[in-house]
Amino acid sequence: MKNLITVTLLGFTFLLIPKSTGLQEVLNYKVKTVVIDAGHGGKDPGCHGKSHKESEITLKVAMELGKLINLHLPEVKVIYTRKVNKFVELHDRATIANKNNADFFISIHCNANPSSAITGTETYTMGMHKTEGNLEVAKRENSVVLQEDNYLEKYEGFDPNSPLAHILFMNYQNAFMENSVKFADKAEKYMSEKTGMKSRGVRQAGFLVLWKTTMPSALVEIGFLTNSADEKIIGTAEGQKKIAEGIFEGFETYKEDIENVKK
Ligand SMILES: [Zn+2]
Repeated sequence: MKNLITVTLLGFTFLLIPKSTGLQEVLNYKVKTVVIDAGHGGKDPGCHGKSHKESEITLKVAMELGKLINLHLPEVKVIYTRKVNKFVELHDRATIANKNNADFFISIHCNANPSSAITGTETYTMGMHKTEGNLEVAKRENSVVLQEDNYLEKYEGFDPNSPLAHILFMNYQNAFMENSVKFADKAEKYMSEKTGMKSRGVRQAGFLVLWKTTMPSALVEIGFLTNSADEKIIGTAEGQKKIAEGIFEGFETYKEDIENVKK
């Protein structure tokens, strides 16, 4: 009996060592690196407003967001997928985040809609689109791969024109979904608070640029360039600063939440 107890206790000890190490890692988890991705660039200007191009606005907001993180969270390393007006393929944007073991990936975009009345911000996480509208946003943002060489090889046969393709890879990022949504909720709340813009909420759709990342991630649509009121905000330096402040506060509170969880 005594031997049995000893063996059992030893067994428990061996079981506990790796478990407690894992727990310690969870408790000490810190958000150390963030990758900020300015959507589009170079030969791909993205969508257009009356007087602004998406690729210019996303770069300005991305740089502003990085500045805020450097200033207020100096312990976080900021990496940009582009700092100038150049073309970067979608899979390369994700690779930059993966190679640097980023803790979060934020992709910044401007929205467009056939109806000029549609206005506000939307933050997407990777997942199944619940409405045709969400699918249309993903298809538009993914269509840039048609300008890349050998896109069928690089994206495992993904055809951006096929709704089925969008459905097939919808669940790829489930493991990171919870944290991605946590950030997305906060980003939507604070962007709206800072700018007075309408929050159209947190949504899910299949974005290639998020699909290839191996960490929690979100794609922020900071407003509609097809809506003149939105363009007036996101097309100006003041509005871009406010949007960046909103995304920053979302990131800062997300970081606090994640780092204090279960402590
Ligand atoms: Zn875009």
